[in-house]
Amino acid sequence: MNLQSASSSRGAETETTRQALASIGARHMLPALDDLGQYCIFLDLDGTLVEIEDRPDDVRVDAATLQFIERLHNRVGRALAVVSGRDICVIDRLLHPLVLPVAGVHGLQRRDAAGRLHSPIIDQGAVETIATRVEAAFLSEPGVVIERKAGAVAIHYRLRPDFERRCQAVAQKIVRDRADLNLITGKMVCEIRLHGNNKGGVIASFLEERPFKGRRPIFAGDDVTDESGFLTVNACGGISIKIGEDLTAARYRAANVQELRKWFDTMIAAPGDLAPPKAAGLK
Ligand SMILES: [Mg+2]
Repeated sequence: MNLQSASSSRGAETETTRQALASIGARHMLPALDDLGQYCIFLDLDGTLVEIEDRPDDVRVDAATLQFIERLHNRVGRALAVVSGRDICVIDRLLHPLVLPVAGVHGLQRRDAAGRLHSPIIDQGAVETIATRVEAAFLSEPGVVIERKAGAVAIHYRLRPDFERRCQAVAQKIVRDRADLNLITGKMVCEIRLHGNNKGGVIASFLEERPFKGRRPIFAGDDVTDESGFLTVNACGGISIKIGEDLTAARYRAANVQELRKWFDTMIAAPGDLAPPKAAGLK
């Protein structure tokens, strides 16, 4: 996996993240928490709440997972948000009938707990032009999945890992041609995205608002785009959890989706003090 960016601002951010990764080694034991009800929770979706599929459209969220999310949401006084690389409309479809606070497209879009949408004005015509260029580059190559999002185009090569370099070269060329684009590289995917907030930024915004404000944050994610979220959560004394083995700024690790679920399940089941959160614990 690569940490790279084609813009200078992203380059600076990437260097900061790289230094953080080099200085912090995540512990492997998830911590025992006295009272989950005092926390707020931010969760990535693919690779964290559900397993990654070869094609993003193949992902389904089963009834047991929906019930788990709903129980967790209620356990923390509804202070739970999904923070994903997907479009908000796709997250809503996957989690139906749940309607949660969410951030989409790695922080480019956000819907707060009151249902208000926070999003820059997106030039979707530019996105269409980018998607057309990417499609033209892979017209005769089955297996490369091109996903259009609000403000971004993702190139998935999970079905064609031999195409990694070519996908990245195409994306880098497109990003070089425009000053308003970033290149984000994740697990078997590279994404061309309009400049905007990242996961760390949207988590910070949620933490300024009810019902998240005053609670100690927990954030779990599995990919490079989650690292900015780990840094934000670390900075306010929260619990950052990396799913998987890659280098990370997160303070804790879970081996996989199941281990994370089990950890939360144990605490959901535990009798807790359902009083309002204490301010203590937040830096
Ligand atoms: Mg993920």
